Amino acid sequence: MHVLAYGAHAGDKPLEPMQITRREPGPEDVQIAIAFCGVCHSDLHQARAEWEGTLFPCVPGHEIVGRVTAVGSEVTTAKRGDLVGVGCIVDSCRHCSECNEGLENYCDSMTGTYNFPTPDAPGHTLGGYAQSIVVHQRYVLQIRHAEDQLAAVAPLLCAGITTWSPLRHWGAGPGKKVGVVGIGGLGHMGVKLAHALGAEVVAFTTSESKRADALALGADQVVVSRNADEMAAQAGSLDFILNTVAAPHDLDAYVSLLKRDGTLALVGAPASPHPSSQVMNLILKRRSIAGSMIGGIAETQEMLDFCAEHGIVADIEQIRADEVNEAYERMLRGDVKYRFVIDTSTI
Ligand code: NAP
Ligand code: ZN
Ligand code: ZN
Repeated sequence: MHVLAYGAHAGDKPLEPMQITRREPGPEDVQIAIAFCGVCHSDLHQARAEWEGTLFPCVPGHEIVGRVTAVGSEVTTAKRGDLVGVGCIVDSCRHCSECNEGLENYCDSMTGTYNFPTPDAPGHTLGGYAQSIVVHQRYVLQIRHAEDQLAAVAPLLCAGITTWSPLRHWGAGPGKKVGVVGIGGLGHMGVKLAHALGAEVVAFTTSESKRADALALGADQVVVSRNADEMAAQAGSLDFILNTVAAPHDLDAYVSLLKRDGTLALVGAPASPHPSSQVMNLILKRRSIAGSMIGGIAETQEMLDFCAEHGIVADIEQIRADEVNEAYERMLRGDVKYRFVIDTSTI
């Protein structure tokens, strides 16, 4: 089926309208009319070939929400008319220990929603800046929010799960003091989710202008990281810090804020390495630096249901498809509150 999409033909070219092909739904496939797709900083990294290995044409987008238009004969988990989401994963091997544990995100054969090899044309996956998509039922999520919240639900499919998974893994909850670094698309969800999980939340931002916003998002305290006194006041006090910053920076400044046995988990994936950290700062307090990648399908559904129950959605700015290049520039300047979401009917 021919479908209109928005994508890039090369890393130094802007995104533009293009026609792509989607496969006909197979027995276990779900065909989805995409209503909205969030704009993740990973889309920018890949559309501009900042990470190695972008396959062109590149149609980004892995924060997909819409309605089911058709299902294959063996589909049991979704039916025509359902409100559904698709996140960063559209396939995996389905039998390794990671897949069996619901951690498809760590399967060696995980197929990302865009820029991964697939038998479908043109040989690599094409994402959600498009009118529709066809996905195996295992990777389709049910959305239980009200339909008028749909655009603001889209960012949960990446920004939500990428912050939820490490917050849960490292036990963010009552009695825990949790830092969230970088109040962008991921970070603003990290603050909302850590707060809803019952943790004491400290937001770290480089932007003085986000101080009041971060409190409104659910932070108990806000630290402007350029202010050395404010940073020093947090020394040795945090159980866990989730770092979402999309650029290289001094990690040691955050390691020093951890308690004994505390963990700094990195989810931001800058195009070049961070300056290396002081080993002594880890050794002296048995601290850890860790990483985390998106989340599995079952925990994504758990997060979506938690958000529906607690009335949590992203703070978004809805845009037309032809505004996406400008949105990328604004994202680079930190000028977004807090996620751009494309209305895919404008493609
Ligand atoms: P974003 O909306 O652009 O937010 C990043 C935030 O980092 C900014 O708003 C800014 O917050 C802070 N920041 C501080 N210095 C910066 C600088 N020099 N350049 C850019 N940002 C700076 O991005 P996002 O969509 O949240 O994504 C953040 C990172 O996570 C990206 O690298 C993305 O690729 C990665 N990511 C990883 C995963 C995963 O699975 N691990 C999943 C999705 C995305 P303040 O103004 O508060 O300082
Ligand atoms: Zn993403
Ligand atoms: Zn697997």
